[in-house]
Amino acid sequence: MTAFGIDLGSTNSCIAYVDDTGHPVVARNAIGRETTPSVVYFEKPGSVVVGGAARNSALLAPHLVAERIKREMGREDVAFTYHGEARTPETISAFILRELAQSAGRQTGEPVRDVVITVPAYFGVREREATRKAGRIAGLNVLDVLDEPIAAALSYQSRRPSGGVRHVLVYDLGGGTFDTTVIRLEGDDIRAVCTGGDLRLGGADWDERVVRYMLEAFTRQCPGLDPTADEQFMHDLAIGAEVVKMELSSALAWTRHLRFGGATAEVEMTRATLEELTADLLERTLDITEKTVGEARRRKVETIDEVILVGGMTKMPVVRERLRERLGLEARRHEPELAVAKGAALFALVRQASREPGGGPEEIADRLGISASEAAVMTRRSVTTVVPRGFGVRVADQNDPLFATDPGRARTYVIHLLPANTPLPADSGAVSFATSIDNQPMAEVEVWEQKEGTSSDEVSDNACVARGRLRLPPRLPALSRLDVSFAVDETGRLTVHAEEPMSGNELDLELQIGGMDEAAVSAARTAVARHDVSS
Ligand code: AMP
Repeated sequence: MTAFGIDLGSTNSCIAYVDDTGHPVVARNAIGRETTPSVVYFEKPGSVVVGGAARNSALLAPHLVAERIKREMGREDVAFTYHGEARTPETISAFILRELAQSAGRQTGEPVRDVVITVPAYFGVREREATRKAGRIAGLNVLDVLDEPIAAALSYQSRRPSGGVRHVLVYDLGGGTFDTTVIRLEGDDIRAVCTGGDLRLGGADWDERVVRYMLEAFTRQCPGLDPTADEQFMHDLAIGAEVVKMELSSALAWTRHLRFGGATAEVEMTRATLEELTADLLERTLDITEKTVGEARRRKVETIDEVILVGGMTKMPVVRERLRERLGLEARRHEPELAVAKGAALFALVRQASREPGGGPEEIADRLGISASEAAVMTRRSVTTVVPRGFGVRVADQNDPLFATDPGRARTYVIHLLPANTPLPADSGAVSFATSIDNQPMAEVEVWEQKEGTSSDEVSDNACVARGRLRLPPRLPALSRLDVSFAVDETGRLTVHAEEPMSGNELDLELQIGGMDEAAVSAARTAVARHDVSS
C-alpha cells in the first residue's frame, strides 16, 4: 500500500507519494493544482467545501469559513461554531486532510490510509498531538508527524545525494509562520541541530501592510470617503493586497484600481515601497536566523554549506538579497511549496518499511520497480530531530525566605530537564529533587513545556502540559530526595518517571496532552466521515 506525505500548511496544503520509479511526486487536486488552500467552507449541515472554492466563499459567508486554522492547533480553549455545531481545530483540519486524501486517492487509484503529516519544527507536544488527532479524525493512519524543515532537507537530499557531512539551513517563510532550522546531513543520517521560529510571523503580516498602504492611498485620492466599514470592499482589498505582493516578486511595480462609493482610485505600489514598508518584518526573520546560526556554531557547526528556501513568501527576491547582505548566506530555492510534502512522502516510505511487516526494502523494491539496493538506500535513512522546546518540572525556590516558613507560598520556577534542541531520542536520566515539608503526603509532579521563544525558568514563560501525584511514605522528613526523569522518543512522545527511593513508590506519567480523548476522536471521525467533502 502506498504511503503518503502531507504538508498541512497554514495557508496551503499539499500531498505527495513516491511513484513507481522511486521519485516523490505531488498528487494534484480536483482542479489540477499541486497545492490546495487550507480553507474550509461549511456550506450547509453535512456538507463542506475545501480549497480555492472555499476561499472564494469567504466573501459571501465569512462566518461559515475557517482559515489559518493551523495557528490554533493544540489550543483547547477555542472552538468555532458553524450551523450551530462547535468544531475544534483538529476537526476543521481533518476536513482538509480528507479532501487531500480523496484527491490523491483519485489520482493513484488506491485509497489513502498511511500518512506522515508535517508540522513546524517548533510545534510543542500539544500541537503535534492535535495534528495526529486531526489525521485520525480524517480516518487516516498517521505513521508519524515530521518536522517540516527535515522534510524539506529529505527532499533536497534525494535530488542531490552527496558524501561527507553537510550542514543545511532551511529558511521557511509561509503564509502564517516562520521557522529556520540547521540540519546535519551525513550519508543516510539526517539530524536537526537546532531550530528557531515565530508562530505568528508570515505572509499575512506582509498583506496587512499592503492593505494599510492601499487604504491610505485611497483616502488621499478620494478624501471624505471611508470604505473601512464596507465588508465587501475590505475583502476585495485583502485579496488584492496579496495579489500585489505576489506580483511584485516578478514585477517592479503593480497598479490596482479601488472602487468605492462611485469613486475610483488608482493605486500603484513599487517593489521598493513594499520592501521598505515590510523591512522590519523581514529583519525579524533574519534576527531569528542569525540566532539559530549562532546556536549551531555553539554546537560546532563551522559552516553552513547550503541554504534552502521553503514557503511561498521566499519567492520575494528581497529574502535572498537580505540573507546574502546581512548574514552572508547564499540561498537557493528548492520547490518552495512542494518540497515539504515530497520529503514527507519519502519519510512515509521509511516509516512504513520500519513498522510494517511486508513493508521491508524487498517489498518496496518490488512495488516501486527499483533495485533492492536502491530501496535499501531509501529506507535506511535515519532521521533525528530535536526537542523543539525545553521540558521540565515546577519546583519551589528554596532561596525564597518564605520557603522556610510557608513553602506552599514560596516562589516557584521551572527547571528544564530536557533543554530545547536536545537530540531525540532523549533521556534526562534521574534528576534529584526534594520534598518541601515534614510528613508530606504526596508530591505534585507537574510537567511544563517552554512556551515559544527563549528559554526561561519563569513559570509564565512555560505551560503546564501534564501533572500527576507521587504518593509518599509516612514520616518522610522535609528535603527528602525524589528522583524524576524525562524521556522523549523519536516521535516526540514524552514519558515522565518519578520515584521516591526509600519506599520505591513510583509515578509514571501518562502524559495528558489535553484536547480530545479517544472516544471524542472516534465520535469526531464518524461525524467527519458523514460529511460530503468537495473542492
Ligand atoms: P505557504 O504557507 O508556504 O503556502 O506560503 C503562502 C504564502 O506565500 C502566502 O502569504 C502567499 O501570499 C505567499 N506567496 C505565494 N506566492 C508568492 C509570490 N510569488 N511572491 C510573494 N509571496 C508569495
